[in-house]
Amino acid sequence: MKRILSLLGATALLISMPVTGDSPSPIDPARMSAIAKTLASDAFQGRAPGTPGEATTVAYLVDQFRALGLRPAGENGGWLQKVPLVHNVAGVPTLLEVKFGASTLPLLVGRDINPQTVRPVSRVTITDAPMVFVGYGVSAPERGWDDFKGLDLHGKVAIFLVNDPDFEAGPNEPVAGKFGGRAMTYYGRWTYKFEEAARRGALAAFVIHETAAAGYGWNVAANSVGGTYDIARAADQTQPVLLQAWISREAAVGLLAKAGLDFEALKRQARDQSFRPVELRGARFSIDMPVATERVDSHNVLAELPGTKHPEESILFAAHWDAFGIGAPDSDGRTIRPGANDDGLGIAGVLELARAFSRMPRTERTLVFAAWTAEERGLLGSETFGVHPLFPPAKMVADLTIDILQTAGPSRDVVLVGAGQSDLEKDLARAAAAQGRSVTPDAKPERGLFYRADHFSLAKRGVPTLLLMGIGGGADLVSGGRTAGDAWVSDYTAHCYHQTCDAWSATWDLRGAAEDVDLLYRIGLELANSRRWPQWYAASEFKAVRDASASARPL
Ligand SMILES: [Zn+2]
Repeated sequence: MKRILSLLGATALLISMPVTGDSPSPIDPARMSAIAKTLASDAFQGRAPGTPGEATTVAYLVDQFRALGLRPAGENGGWLQKVPLVHNVAGVPTLLEVKFGASTLPLLVGRDINPQTVRPVSRVTITDAPMVFVGYGVSAPERGWDDFKGLDLHGKVAIFLVNDPDFEAGPNEPVAGKFGGRAMTYYGRWTYKFEEAARRGALAAFVIHETAAAGYGWNVAANSVGGTYDIARAADQTQPVLLQAWISREAAVGLLAKAGLDFEALKRQARDQSFRPVELRGARFSIDMPVATERVDSHNVLAELPGTKHPEESILFAAHWDAFGIGAPDSDGRTIRPGANDDGLGIAGVLELARAFSRMPRTERTLVFAAWTAEERGLLGSETFGVHPLFPPAKMVADLTIDILQTAGPSRDVVLVGAGQSDLEKDLARAAAAQGRSVTPDAKPERGLFYRADHFSLAKRGVPTLLLMGIGGGADLVSGGRTAGDAWVSDYTAHCYHQTCDAWSATWDLRGAAEDVDLLYRIGLELANSRRWPQWYAASEFKAVRDASASARPL
C-alpha cells in the first residue's frame, strides 16, 4: 500500500507542474487519498453521529488540526461545537383518517402517506383538524409571489405541491421562468414547505408526491427506515410542525375529489400569482401515532488560522465528517458504509487546505475550517452552526464547501452546482482559467443539488457560497472526455453513493479532485487578502437576507 501511495505522490509532483506559469499546487492527491483511507477504515465504523465511530473521527480530526498548528475555533475555546439532535422513529398509527361528515377516508401508511414528526414527542395526536390546499406554498417577495395571501394556518393541515410554481408551466404562461424554469429553487424543496408551514403556525404539513417534480419515486418518499433526525431546538425558537408527511399523488387526488376539488385544476390555479389557498370543505384530519424519541449528542469540529488585519472577517472551508454507519449486510456481507468519497474526500480536501494555508504567511482575514456532523441526517451540523454561529454570518466573506469529488483522474473542467447564484462563480472561472481549465454548469439543475449540501445552511443566512460536488455532472476527463466523466457519475451514484461500496480504493486517481480543491485554495487565498465582499446575484433567493446585514460590512 505504501508503495502505491508514494508512486501516486511522485505522479502528483509531475502533474502539478504549472501549465500557465503560476506556482505548483500545494494540494497533494496522495495525501488526500491517505486521509480518506483512514476515515474509511473499519476503526471509524462508517462515522455515524452519536456512535463510537464519532468519537474516533472527532479525535482524529482534532489531532490533524492540532498537528498543523491551527487554533481551536469551537465552543468555549475548544475544537468542538455541540450538535444535539432529536432522533425519532414513528410507530404504527392507531388512528389515521380524514372524515367528511359521516363518511371516512382511511389513509394507509406506506401506500398513501408517510407520516413523521421531528418534534421530541412520544405521541402525535391530532383530532379533526381542518385541511387547506396552499398550492406550491411559496412566499417569495423578491419574485412578487405569495401563495398564502395572509392565511392563518394555526390548527390546520396545509397541503403543498412539490417543486416550484413554474415547474410544469407552458412557455406562454406568465409564471414561466419566474422560478428558474426546470431548475429547482429553494422554494421547490420539501424542506422549505415544512419550514414555511411551521413559520405560519400549521399543525401539520403534507407534500403531494409526484415523481417528476420530486425528482424521485414514491418508494423513496415513502421510505422511513432509520426514522428522522432534526436539531434539538430551544423553546424560544420556531418549532417544526407537529406532523410532516409525503402523500402519494393517488391519495391526494382522492382526498381532494372527496372535497369536490379537481387536482389538475388546482395545479393550474397554483401556477398563477392570483392563487389563493383552497379549503377542503368538510374535511377533518385525525391521527394518533406513537413515537420512539431519543436525543443524540454529536459534534462539529472547527479550527482557524486567525487573520492579521481583519480577524473578524472570515472565509469558511467545509465538508461533512459523518457517513451512514453500520447497516444491513450487502451481498458480500459488508455492513459498514464507510463514506470514503462522501465525504471522506471532502474532509481530506479541507485538511489539505488547512495544511497549505498553515505553511504560508497568515492572511489578513481569518480562515475557518469546519468538519460538520449529521449532513446525511439533513444538514444538521451546519444548521446548528447557522443557529449558533461561532463567527458572525454578516462578516463571513464566503463559504466554500466540498461534498464528493470525482476519482477518475484529471479533468479539463470543474462542474458548478447551482449556476447563477453569486459572483463567486467568476472567482471559480478565474481560478479554473489559471489552471488551464474551465467551468461547466450542473447538468441537471432540476435536482436542486444546490439545496442539498451543507453550504446551504450558510446560504440561508446570507453567506455567499460555492459548492464542489463530484456528482453534479460528469467532468470532461482528460482520459475519455465527458462520456467517461458521465459514466463515472452514473456508476458511483448507482452503486456506491450511501452504500457499502463507497470504500477507499487503491485505483482512485485523485489528480482531478486535487485540482478541484486547489480551486478553493486559490479563491480563498485571494479573498483572504482582499477587501472584497462577494455578492449574490439579483435573482438569488439569498440576496435579501445578505442585504439586510450590509451595514455590518465595512468597505
Ligand atoms: Zn455528502
